[in-house]
Amino acid sequence: MKEKEATQVILIVDDVPANIKVLGNALKKDYTVRFATDGLKALEIAQSSSPPDIILLDIMMPGMDGYEVCRRLKASEQTRDIPVIFITALNEEEDETKGLEFGAVDYITKPFSLQIVKIRIKTHLELKRHRDLLEQLSMLDALTGIPNRRCFNDALELEWKRAERDAVFLSLIMIDIDFFKNFNDRYGHRLGDDCLIQVAQTLMHSVHRPGDCVARYGGEEFACILPGTDIHGALRVAENMRNEVAGLQIPHDRSTVAAYVTISLGAASILPSRMAGPEKLITGADNALYHAKNKGRNCVRTVDINLGAVFQSP
Ligand code: GH3
Ligand code: MG
Ligand code: MG
Repeated sequence: MKEKEATQVILIVDDVPANIKVLGNALKKDYTVRFATDGLKALEIAQSSSPPDIILLDIMMPGMDGYEVCRRLKASEQTRDIPVIFITALNEEEDETKGLEFGAVDYITKPFSLQIVKIRIKTHLELKRHRDLLEQLSMLDALTGIPNRRCFNDALELEWKRAERDAVFLSLIMIDIDFFKNFNDRYGHRLGDDCLIQVAQTLMHSVHRPGDCVARYGGEEFACILPGTDIHGALRVAENMRNEVAGLQIPHDRSTVAAYVTISLGAASILPSRMAGPEKLITGADNALYHAKNKGRNCVRTVDINLGAVFQSP
């Protein structure tokens, strides 16, 4: 059976409550309806952690008018993809032109036919659902189903800024399967792929906090972002990952470190500042991984990013 899709959320913005009621009543059977009676409240809802899927926006409102609300929505990366439909009494050609130029997907003038408005909303919401799905898929690795490199880059950028703002540590672990070329040569690519999937899933299950992110970084390399975590926490997570993957006991008789598949890990931690960028953290974790490989693999290493020194994991 097809999985039930989540109900989409419509935000109605109008300074006249009676107008909200008419539209709301017509839509509440099929959608979750939220409302705002002024522009600022509308922006607040749009910028919240549960934004609407579409906004029905009046133009003439006291304070901030609908054009300005739309302009601000489209100017912010966080809200620019929420489709806006103007629903307004302004019916001059220049009003409509202006509305569409501000980035609205549709412009409906009052008085309107409820039937037609409902159909137009349905069309735009279907388009929105498809766009969201594509966006999600473009962030996932096709083989393992976990976040891909692109998603990793976005997450690291975001967490770097957040950690800088909150003045907390940000940690990164780079993970690489040991002797994986030998594994493919010995067991074939199909089992190689199966191994990658198992390792990916195991790494995913090793982290638990909401901002934690495990991604496939490259062929048999993975990366894990740990926001608000210092090097001690990162080393604990890394050691746990190493144990969990070894615990899968995937046979690997072409490995010189164990009879089963193992991983090497490099961890680094930093207090983000404007003086550096995320590359510094990536370089640190990469160097640490290099040391883990040099130290014989199936182990965790870290570096002090500022001193460049190598430390052994506990
Ligand atoms: P090390 O212990 O130093 O990490 O050695 P390694 O053999 O793991 O590293 P190397 O970088 O030499 O080889 C990585 C191999 O990973 C090459 C390729 O055969 C394999 N690989 C990369 N991507 C995939 C994939 O999507 N599927 C499969 N089956 N294998 C992959
Ligand atoms: Mg490898
Ligand atoms: Mg590699």
